[in-house]
Amino acid sequence: MFKPKAIFYEKDTINYQLGKELFKKHEDVPKIEIDNHNNIEEMRKKSNKEFVQMKRNLIIGIRKTHKFVENHKTSDYLVPYTSSGCTASCMYCYLVCNYNKCAYLRLFVNREKMLEKIIKTSEQSEKELTFEIGSNSDLILENTITNNLVWTIENFSKTKKGFLTFPTKFDMVDEILPLSHNGKITVRMSVNPEDIIKKVEFGTSRLNGRIEAINKLKEAGYKIGILIAPVIFVENWREQYESLIKILNEKLTDKVKKDVFFEIIFMTYSFVHIKINEEAFPNSISLYNKDIMTGRGKGKYWYKEEIRKEGEKFFIEKMNKYFPNNEIKYIV
Ligand code: SF4
Repeated sequence: MFKPKAIFYEKDTINYQLGKELFKKHEDVPKIEIDNHNNIEEMRKKSNKEFVQMKRNLIIGIRKTHKFVENHKTSDYLVPYTSSGCTASCMYCYLVCNYNKCAYLRLFVNREKMLEKIIKTSEQSEKELTFEIGSNSDLILENTITNNLVWTIENFSKTKKGFLTFPTKFDMVDEILPLSHNGKITVRMSVNPEDIIKKVEFGTSRLNGRIEAINKLKEAGYKIGILIAPVIFVENWREQYESLIKILNEKLTDKVKKDVFFEIIFMTYSFVHIKINEEAFPNSISLYNKDIMTGRGKGKYWYKEEIRKEGEKFFIEKMNKYFPNNEIKYIV
């Protein structure tokens, strides 16, 4: 169970039901009042070395922007939802941004407003819409602190239209297993070879736990997707990823294998990641490899085209071998 070192909070959060619950639950944790969760002076001044320590704090605020962003991958809209950031420290995390301001876990107490907007948009639409609610954080992890995912599924499952989906790297799914979700929720488990999880995805669940969680969720009737993501082209990547796909084939139940779909995403990286990781994790492996990566503007890097092509060919071949009947939604 995550026990915060300190709680930074916006004053008004105490007027919300969830705010009250969180303050009660963490009565003994030191509290620091802030004006705005987007700009915490004390955090901005911290050095990269303190990155992991900073993630021991909890920020409680009110989400002000509720703009849905169109998406065409596994949902119709990316929706800003009940949290942002995370307590884990994956070295490539896409939520990391300048001045460390996005890295730590921020919880937003105005969840009623956020879910209401989803339900309204869904019911007003002619076609059935799918909303991605986990693009800013990990909702399985967040649920262990707020119970928000349970609350969301219970409330959303009663509505007439629409679907929700979210990705996760965590196995603490037991709380959502008994819920009547009404077939409206797709959980997408993100996986990587165990060696990469150990060396790069600090603080997340191990591969076996994630696979067990997939099997349990499927047994409970949830729709399941698997993200092989982000694919990192380490030296022995072919062996590592073939072994991963083989393990999935061996350990997933027939029920999962019947209709699970896949998304395969190659890692992107940035100058900011390099700077933070050098100082925060000085003994860890380096994810930046100038021989196979190239710039794509604004301090960002991705794998060179020939590497991505090679990766694509590899994954299509291996997926055909081990999961010939399953859909690969995309490889990017
Ligand atoms: S689990 Fe997800 S949100 Fe958390 S650090 Fe890793 S990539 Fe980022």
